[in-house]
Amino acid sequence: MRLVLIGPPGAGKGTQATLLGRRFGIPHISTGDLFRENVSHGTPLGQEARRYLDAGELVPDHVTGAMVRRRLEEPDARRGFLLDGFPRTVEQAHALTTILARTGAVLDAVVEFDAPEHIVVERLRGRGRSDDTEEVIRHRQQVYRRQTAPLLAHYTDIVLTVHAVGTVEEITDRALEALADLPGAA
Ligand code: ADP
Repeated sequence: MRLVLIGPPGAGKGTQATLLGRRFGIPHISTGDLFRENVSHGTPLGQEARRYLDAGELVPDHVTGAMVRRRLEEPDARRGFLLDGFPRTVEQAHALTTILARTGAVLDAVVEFDAPEHIVVERLRGRGRSDDTEEVIRHRQQVYRRQTAPLLAHYTDIVLTVHAVGTVEEITDRALEALADLPGAA
């Protein structure tokens, strides 16, 4: 199964992606995690990405796209994947289509985790990651609304919306229900 997860920062995509990935036996690929690993290892990519992460801005497409392409070419992603944090712009969605087309693959679904802004902001305040300061949290929400939310119209035919307020378990159950009709979800 090839899935993309979309939702505002704080919607719980990462948590759900880990659980769903285990359930379906496919890797959870988080661009945020990949960037943070590169930052903590001090790689050239990490050095370039760092200032964008700290500011809550999107890392430029040429950096992000190349990183995602390399990750998707690894053998464990051949059979499927859960992409968390990519694409985040319509341009990135086109790049993903191109990457997948090289192997004749297509996305099965885009899962939207939907939660009101005041709830996700409250969750991020409690999380305490280094980019979870008040100002950066607000900016990331704005970047989501302006640059990422338009992707839902781009993917309209394959979007499955999951209400993302509730316990982790409730939200996983809703996602599984939404995905139940896809091949490979049994
Ligand atoms: P959140 O969804 O809570 O903002 P992420 O871990 O998904 O957290 O992303 C953290 C940061 O990583 C973003 O603010 C951005 O700087 C960078 N990033 C992640 N994914 C992308 C992407 N697809 N394109 C550009 N930058 C990205």
